[in-house]
Amino acid sequence: MVGSLACVRIDLHTHSRVSDGTDSPAELVAAAAASGLDVVALTDHDTTAGWPEAIAAGAEHGVAVVPGIEISTDYHGTSVHLLGYLLDPTLPELNVELDRILAGRSARVPTMIARLQALGIEITAEDVYARSTEAAATGRPHIADALVALGVVGHRDEAFDRYLAWGRPAYVDRYAAPLETMVELIARAGGVSVIAHPWGRSSRREPSAARIAALTELGLAGIEVDHQDHDDAARAQLRAIARDLDLVATGSSDYHGTGKTGHALGVNTTAPSELRRLLERAAAASAASGRPTPSVTLPPGVVLP
Ligand code: AMP
Ligand code: ZN
Ligand code: FE
Ligand code: FE
Repeated sequence: MVGSLACVRIDLHTHSRVSDGTDSPAELVAAAAASGLDVVALTDHDTTAGWPEAIAAGAEHGVAVVPGIEISTDYHGTSVHLLGYLLDPTLPELNVELDRILAGRSARVPTMIARLQALGIEITAEDVYARSTEAAATGRPHIADALVALGVVGHRDEAFDRYLAWGRPAYVDRYAAPLETMVELIARAGGVSVIAHPWGRSSRREPSAARIAALTELGLAGIEVDHQDHDDAARAQLRAIARDLDLVATGSSDYHGTGKTGHALGVNTTAPSELRRLLERAAAASAASGRPTPSVTLPPGVVLP
């Protein structure tokens, strides 16, 4: 049911098979509708290729689809995931960077497979590419899925913990775009940027409040506060930082289908008033950049406070 303000349910971070999720974009949007979400953002890693299918499915299922992306960036040696929303995906300079990231992700796969083989694991390139037939690039999650299918590990996380994560024996570095560059390019594409799970995975509180403030000066619009990788203390501190810096505070599932447990659609949500602020900033970014912003059609009866 939609209509009552308190009931508007918004999830702004999900992945389909176009990156490393296990649903097609249309299946993901259908699942969002079935979960009672009114608004869902598709934010595949470093690609916007799933947008048309997701937007069409949104119209069919009565779910507003916010077109987005999660970009792999580097911030002074730290990996930072940057969410971009409502950007013009045709900006050439943006695509140069995205192509470079996707190519870097795919290029390391043969070396990682060779390292696994050197460890005595009988894995082939075909095993891996069979897991990424619909993806814009082949990444570590697909290698992990191949290891699961071969019975080497029980699940994706085990594959990362034993072999694929940074510092593990099959890890190989890849290109990530400078964070500042991507914040600027998203703004030039008429979109808004939000740091994904800023304090997730690493236990260090990095980027620090001071660094988030510096990024706000460059045009950062928000930070993802409510995420499964943040404990209650991290959420409280990030919410305070967002308030102090006038940043949009989002909450999301980071859904990957069956690829990630504990990340069910809608497990964290974004307040309607925060989505309204995000949409206002996207409209301003579009006006300032002169780039057309994809529009979001809210379901009938849904009004954002
Ligand atoms: P890649 O494109 O190869 O860098 O893979 C990126 C994706 O792999 C991330 O977005 C996560 O979905 C997943 N991932 C990265 N590190 C880990 C980890 N330590 N444990 C589980 N999944 C991970
Ligand atoms: Zn992912
Ligand atoms: Fe991420
Ligand atoms: Fe993600």
